[in-house]
Amino acid sequence: MAKTKEFKAEVQQLLKLMIHSLYSNRDIFLRELVANAADAIDKARFESLTTPALAREWQIRLAVDKEAKTLVVSDNGIGMTEEEVIDNIGTIAKSGTKAFLKMLEENKDNKEPLPELIGQFGVGFYSAFMVASSVEIVTKKAGTELPAVKWSSNGEGNYKLEVGERDDQGTTITLHLKDDAAQYLDSWKIGEIVRRYSDFIAYPIILPEKKVNEDKTETVEDKVLNSQKAIWLRKPSEITDEEYKSFYSHLSHLGGDYLKTIHITAEGTSEFQALLFLPKEAPFNLLMPEIQKKGLQLYVRRVFITDECKELIPDYLRFVSGVVDSSDLPLNVSREILQENVQLRRIEKAVVSRVLSELKKMQENERDAYAGFFREFGRTLKEGIHTDYANAEKLKDLVMYESMNTESGKMITLAEYVTAMPESQKDIYFITGEKRESVAASPALEYFKSQGYDVLFMTDPIDDWIMQQMFQYRQKNFKSVVKGDFEVDGAEELLKEAKEKFAKLLEFLKTTLGDSVSEVRFSARLTDSPCCLIVEGNALSPHLERLFKAMHQEIPQSKRILELNPKHPLVEALFKAYTADENAPELKSYAKVLFDQSLLTEGSPLPDPAAFAKELTQLLLRSLGGGKSDDSSAK
Ligand code: ADP
Repeated sequence: MAKTKEFKAEVQQLLKLMIHSLYSNRDIFLRELVANAADAIDKARFESLTTPALAREWQIRLAVDKEAKTLVVSDNGIGMTEEEVIDNIGTIAKSGTKAFLKMLEENKDNKEPLPELIGQFGVGFYSAFMVASSVEIVTKKAGTELPAVKWSSNGEGNYKLEVGERDDQGTTITLHLKDDAAQYLDSWKIGEIVRRYSDFIAYPIILPEKKVNEDKTETVEDKVLNSQKAIWLRKPSEITDEEYKSFYSHLSHLGGDYLKTIHITAEGTSEFQALLFLPKEAPFNLLMPEIQKKGLQLYVRRVFITDECKELIPDYLRFVSGVVDSSDLPLNVSREILQENVQLRRIEKAVVSRVLSELKKMQENERDAYAGFFREFGRTLKEGIHTDYANAEKLKDLVMYESMNTESGKMITLAEYVTAMPESQKDIYFITGEKRESVAASPALEYFKSQGYDVLFMTDPIDDWIMQQMFQYRQKNFKSVVKGDFEVDGAEELLKEAKEKFAKLLEFLKTTLGDSVSEVRFSARLTDSPCCLIVEGNALSPHLERLFKAMHQEIPQSKRILELNPKHPLVEALFKAYTADENAPELKSYAKVLFDQSLLTEGSPLPDPAAFAKELTQLLLRSLGGGKSDDSSAK
């Protein structure tokens, strides 16, 4: 008996878009359906290793019918039960659906490349509705006695389920093509799309072809459209760019462009071959870990074992896509075995070491390409410093930062930083913050500038976290310029004198600022600015504090140390004013303005911006010789 069911709201929204808005690059619908068919065969083939009755002569069959205006994609893979059809096609909104819709929303004006991304979000099947006014699926689950299920829909709101007819396991998808999609009835066009996107699919993709014989009779012959070559087993010199590209887009579901290919042929303790790709640009989903494909494809002697094999590559290299084909593993490995397999560990180790050494090479020989890569993936790569202890030193060699001495947009390596250090410089100095402009304005840099020491600008949100683990590079300690005590050789005398001379002023500032600061002291850190704020050695950096607050996290409120520059004329002037009349009302506003502007240069928000503006107005009026303004005009 037929049942009608409604699509989940988000799926409806997605289908509406597919039907009404996406017109460019529609060819990719076939790539997605063929990929699904190949996945289904992969699964059945894997099952057949333990249940031989499921084995077939694996194939994906296509068929066009010009009269009926249909295109059929059919496989003899794993098939689906009724429940699976309901779950997979339409009812359950997958995490990817939401993410895809969000991405479409954000990229409204830029329609062109979007269909390319459909596969990335795990919503490939729906792309059929870009070209079809209605779609039927007839599917029969392999290894069961269940009747076949027929699913049909025109993509508008709901779908129908009924008993279908199918003799053998697998899935047949029939597309009733829209009038404007008639080109997909053309065998030549279909062949071209298959060769472009799906050439290396390991199963024959067959399209029956009519042949006119010499005696004028017609016969139909099967034509295999794809070469099915396992590209990773071929010699790199014999693989064309086009072949690489189409394989890459198959693996990553990204259109076309990669940065580098890495071929590995390992012999000895573990024998395997691998073809890996470094991407050019971060995919939309790199920052959405829940829908991102992670891991490499695992084959054993050309037999597909699993997708997204996380055991083959660590998380911090999740931008790498590719295939590993092992000669050592048994064909019938199970997920559980994979998880603690020694061979896989060895392969992973070899893969990581090779990827890192390729990156190093690129950094040395193709600096611009590497810088571009690092801008996209540096943040991900840095996670490894925290998580991959064994390779932490190699990773430190790969990270790059802008610095006080670089032009905006140019980065240096830690090695370059250390090499450029003057003899007198002991530590590696850094400052963390949102962006170059804000860290570059910090008064805390002044001393370093005066000494000819460079300071690394760490402006990645992840940097603060990484620096909690990165203590040293080449035996040199990392030191934040806005943290902790700071000693300048030969400055003790000056500081001691200032402390004695201005003792009363220090006292006054401390009482006036009260709980906002933990200490007021003199320091030799500053040359041009009158003062700056410093945090205690083990407290969160101001940048990290702001990040946590932005995430509404409860964090201990760390108090700042207000450091004054003993040589600044403002200190002297303030002291004079204080000695002249220690009860003068404007003294308190001077103290507050001083503190608030230090918060501003640190990049932190003011607790009470309106009050700051008011104090400042009063000060301006006073210095311009105006009268005291009343509250309303000062706002
Ligand atoms: P994805 O393939 O990225 O998961 P799709 O929207 O393309 O997303 O497909 C949804 C699901 O439907 C698949 O994960 C699979 O479980 C099922 N499916 C699609 N096509 C087939 C097929 N030919 N055979 C068996 N299952 C299929």
